[in-house]
Amino acid sequence: MPLLELTGGSEMKAMLLKEISPVERQPLQWVDLPTPTPGPKEILVKVSACGICHTELDEIEGRLPPNLPIILGHEIVGRIEGLGSGVTTFAQGDRVGIAWINSACGKCQFCQGGVENLCKEFKGTGCDAHGGYAQYTVVSEDFAYPIPQRFSDSEAAPLLCAGAIGYRDLQLSGIKKGQSLGLFGFGASAHIVIQMATYLGCEVFVFTRNEEHRNLARKLGASWAGGPEDETPEKLHCAIDFTPVGETVPHALRALEKGGRLVMAVIRKRNPIPPMDYAQLLWDEKEIKSVANITRKDALEFLSLAAEIPIIPEVQEFRLEEANQALILLKQGKIKGAGVLRMPD
Ligand SMILES: [Zn+2]
Ligand SMILES: [Zn+2]
Repeated sequence: MPLLELTGGSEMKAMLLKEISPVERQPLQWVDLPTPTPGPKEILVKVSACGICHTELDEIEGRLPPNLPIILGHEIVGRIEGLGSGVTTFAQGDRVGIAWINSACGKCQFCQGGVENLCKEFKGTGCDAHGGYAQYTVVSEDFAYPIPQRFSDSEAAPLLCAGAIGYRDLQLSGIKKGQSLGLFGFGASAHIVIQMATYLGCEVFVFTRNEEHRNLARKLGASWAGGPEDETPEKLHCAIDFTPVGETVPHALRALEKGGRLVMAVIRKRNPIPPMDYAQLLWDEKEIKSVANITRKDALEFLSLAAEIPIIPEVQEFRLEEANQALILLKQGKIKGAGVLRMPD
């Protein structure tokens, strides 16, 4: 079903994806679209900042095919400029965030069991429904979150995906105070996870080829930073793999202590996980667990923890119309911290 049946009098600027393509071809188009109108229980949000994410690369390049044509973006911060009928949670002018979870059925065993992230009818923002690479977006009031005051719009944006998913990754890793945690890849999500992990009293080891990322990791409290094949001074209780490549998986399993758990934080890998020696890498009760989406609870709990610690993400800002270039830099690993698009007024 095309999503572009938008109605309303005024127009907005948006970066629109019409077809799957390598990101190097700069497939997002700068277009005018009708400003959406909020339906029942929906809010109209004037977007001020929207984070960019590896998931967008997966969508653009077809590893996670979106509902085309689509406005990407699921780390949205803005202010409410219109209310649909029956909205009770928010008022005009409230600052809100919108994350990857755009909706879920609310009735199935997963929704009822607190894992709405696994709902069959799960819809992703900027994938199944229009997202935040635009001046305006609409969402159900039940899937928007108040943003704690201490964050600027740009700082809050990456918290909504990188941060909220990182929070879920850390929960699923089962790590406890005093244990050691390995982070493979050190982009937006990892640089938030390290701050939560050290706050919780864990020792953090960071694996990345990028020297600049290693320096940032040490600055943020890593007790060790090296390359993905490097051996750590001790074996790790848990590891989280943020990299888009399959080769990381055997490296991470090798770094784990017996009974250790590897959490895979990405939705798709760019290349397959290589064949692995079971006795060497998996035996001894090692576990691999993947993470799928997030729940509203993750987003809400994480936002309040982030304000408490506090976690202030390092951001690199781009203008909305520079989204293609920003995504290419993201793919090349050249963004320090988290990339955020700023909307024109
Ligand atoms: Zn994301
Ligand atoms: Zn459901």
